[in-house]
Amino acid sequence: MVNRQFILAARPEGMIRETDFRLVESTVPPLREGEMLVRARYLSVDPYMRGRMSAARSYAPSVDIGQVMTGGGVGEVVESRQAAFRIGDIVNFQMGWQEYAISHGENVRKVDASLAPISTAVGILGMPGLTAYYGVTEICAVKPGETFVVSGAAGAVGSAAGQIASIRGAHAVGITGGQKKVDYILRELGFHEAIDYKANPDITSALRDACPHRVDAYFDNVGGATTDAVLAYLNTFARVGICGQISQANDGAPSPGPRMYRHLLVARARVQGFLIWDFTRQEEALVDLANWIASGDLRYHEDVIEGFENMPKALIGLFLGENIGKRVVRVA
Ligand code: NDP
Repeated sequence: MVNRQFILAARPEGMIRETDFRLVESTVPPLREGEMLVRARYLSVDPYMRGRMSAARSYAPSVDIGQVMTGGGVGEVVESRQAAFRIGDIVNFQMGWQEYAISHGENVRKVDASLAPISTAVGILGMPGLTAYYGVTEICAVKPGETFVVSGAAGAVGSAAGQIASIRGAHAVGITGGQKKVDYILRELGFHEAIDYKANPDITSALRDACPHRVDAYFDNVGGATTDAVLAYLNTFARVGICGQISQANDGAPSPGPRMYRHLLVARARVQGFLIWDFTRQEEALVDLANWIASGDLRYHEDVIEGFENMPKALIGLFLGENIGKRVVRVA
C-alpha cells in the first residue's frame, strides 16, 4: 500500500514557502502486534506548525529536515492489531502530514461521530475549541458584565473564544482583518462589537468606541501592534491570556515594541501565557462545547481545502488570513 507523505525539506526563512515541503511516497509496512493503521480523512493545519519548522527553541521539539511534518488529524482505522481499536473506529491523534499513519493507540482519542461532523475533532470539538474554552474560562476568567476582547477573532480559536465569553455574560469584542470577517463575527456569531484592524490601523480609537468601559479580559492570538493597543487600554485588575503571536511567526528577530510594563502596573493586570496541553479533564470541557453547539449558542465554520497535495498551500494561507473559522484539509 502506497503512503503519500509531506516531509520537511527546508527550514523557512520568513514566510513559509511550498518548497519548504516535499511530497514523497513510501510503502506502508505490515502491522506489528499492538499497532493499528489509520487512513487520514481530515488533516489539520495550525499556526503552531510554523514553530515546528524552525530550529528555534520552543515548547515542543522541531521537526527534523527529512522527517514527516507533524500535525493532528482525524482518520479511520482500516487495520488493527491493537485490542482497544477496531476497524471502522474514527480516531484523532497527531497523525502527521500523511495519508496513512501507524499508531500504538497512545494519545489517541476515539471520536464520537454522532456528536458532530468528524472534522470537528481537530476544530471546535478538538484542540482549538478547547484552547478557546480554557483561555476564556480559566486564564481570562471572564465574568458577567465584563468587556472581553479577542484578537484573531474570526479564526478557529478566536471565533469560539468570543462566543464562549458571550455565553458567560461578557460584552464580546473581536479584532479581525477585513469586512467579510467583521460581518461573520457580528452577524453569524453574535459578537457585540468588531474591529477591522486592516481598515482601521488606529486600533486605539476603535477600542475606545467598542469598549466604553475599557478591557477587563484580553485573549491574545496575534501579538504585535494590536496587542500593544489593547494592553494600553486595560481596566483595573484585567487578565490577559497570551494564546498565540501569529503576527510575529515569520519574523526573523523580535520587533522592538513599546514598553508596556507601566500600563500593566497601572491596571494591576495579570498576563499569562498558556498552552492547551497544560489542561487536563478535557472530556468535561468537550461536553460543554458539544452542548453549546447542540443548543445553538456556539457556532462554528470550517474552511475545507480539498486534497492532501494542498497541505502546504493550506498552511501558508493561515498566515495570509485566508480562512474563516477552522481550516482543515479533506484527504480524498
Ligand atoms: P486561525 O484560524 O485564527 O488562523 C490564523 C489567523 O491569524 C488568520 O486567519 C488571520 O486572521 C490571523 N493572522 C495571520 N497573520 C496575521 C498577522 N500578521 N497579524 C495579525 N493576524 C494575523 O488560527 P488558530 O485559531 O488555529 O490559532 C489562533 C492563534 O492561537 C495562533 O496564534 C495559534 O498559534 C494560537 N494557538 C495557541 C494554542 C495554545 O495552546 N496556546 C492552541 C491553538 C492555537 P485575520 O484575517 O483576522 O488577520
